[in-house]
Amino acid sequence: MQSVAVLGATGSIGTSALDVVARHPGRLRASVLAAGRNVDALLDLCRTHRPDHAAIADPESYAALRDGLAAAGLRTQAHAGMDAITDLAAGDACQTVVAAIVGAAGLDSTLAAARAGKRLLLANKESLVLAGELLMAAARDGGACIVPIDSEHNAIFQCLSGRDDQPSAVGKRPGSGMTSHSAVERRDTETGHQDVRRIVLTASGGPFRGRNRAQLAGVTPAQAIAHPKWSMGPKISVDSATLMNKGLEVIEAHHLFGLPGARIDVLVHPQSLVHSLVEFIDGSTLAQLGLPDMRTALAVGFGWPRRIESGVAGLDLLAHGRLDFEPPDTDAFPCLRLAYAALAAGGTAPATLNAANEVAVSSFLQGRIGFLSIPALVEQTLAALPAAPAASLDALRDADARARAHATQLSSRITAT
Ligand code: NAD
Ligand code: MG
Repeated sequence: MQSVAVLGATGSIGTSALDVVARHPGRLRASVLAAGRNVDALLDLCRTHRPDHAAIADPESYAALRDGLAAAGLRTQAHAGMDAITDLAAGDACQTVVAAIVGAAGLDSTLAAARAGKRLLLANKESLVLAGELLMAAARDGGACIVPIDSEHNAIFQCLSGRDDQPSAVGKRPGSGMTSHSAVERRDTETGHQDVRRIVLTASGGPFRGRNRAQLAGVTPAQAIAHPKWSMGPKISVDSATLMNKGLEVIEAHHLFGLPGARIDVLVHPQSLVHSLVEFIDGSTLAQLGLPDMRTALAVGFGWPRRIESGVAGLDLLAHGRLDFEPPDTDAFPCLRLAYAALAAGGTAPATLNAANEVAVSSFLQGRIGFLSIPALVEQTLAALPAAPAASLDALRDADARARAHATQLSSRITAT
């Protein structure tokens, strides 16, 4: 039995993960559930999944969680605070961690799970953008298996599996049922990706595909989070609308697969059926296709190297009829360009990009700034805080904090005018 911690259990990815877990009562068990501040939703999940531990990040919600668990007659232990979530991710209560907290708030628990050698189903892309080198090193040192859950990276993970350069039984962990062969080991410089010419991340283009800058000026948060193909949390939905999501994913792919930005391309594919592609030096291109439903990627994560049921139907290409591709429009959606530039600048630049974006998206969702101010805020923050070496976690946290402060100031100025 694989014991699973779902961090961000009440969110979109968390809910999909628990749906897959519930399909495999003999194989998977939700032993830890953690969420941000929605105690009622967490209690509902506890009644269904009966975990050993439930944790809420908001310390003031501890009593409500504890009393709610007791009232439901559950033996689930209540915890509160980010440190408690981090400890649970690293501790004996779970073998597998689904890292599905949104934003940089997920960094500590993701790092802890990596250091502790868990099977890490990594949805929290911001932790890779913020501290990719440190996170990958922690996973290598700890012997953790990272299975990327972002659909594009999960697709590439699948396309790259079963190759000759895949180290056998490296870092096999007792109980994990899996070698740490994953993306973690397959670094360009170490085991070769010399046979990979490039990877191509597909992007749906979001709800505003085809619009120019002038047509984007007045769009509302409600329009921005109405994604045409994927049902996701509000932050990543806005990121998809600005194309920052794809920019974060370029940086994520760089860390996971060890390729430079110049060998990571982006193609807009509105049907969202081809989840990404790998082009090899012999002219072959492998792609992974499927319906846009995150349960497929999560089932890959739980089951790998086996395939397990996810609840997702197969793909009927005749019913869909066509697959279209077009280049991304970085004039209308400059966030993608900014992310490539931050990756090239290196050091603290990706952390700055990510933090400024989190502030900008939050301000936009609160109706305080317009849609076009999101890239503007990110660009101005990157210009004001040039990249510095990112030798330590402290340096990255400092860059994150300074970018948040700067972007918040810029946002207040816009709101005041
Ligand atoms: P969401 O907003 O639906 O859920 C976020 C979850 O994180 C909630 O359970 C919330 O309670 C929890 N949370 C928020 N702040 C927290 C904090 N400070 N401490 C602890 N928990 C906290 O978001 P989502 O769409 O599920 O996305 C989660 C992550 O997965 C993001 O990093 C996103 O980029 C990534 N991702 C999501 C999808 C998708 O289809 N939704 C696809 C790819 C990657
Ligand atoms: Mg994605």
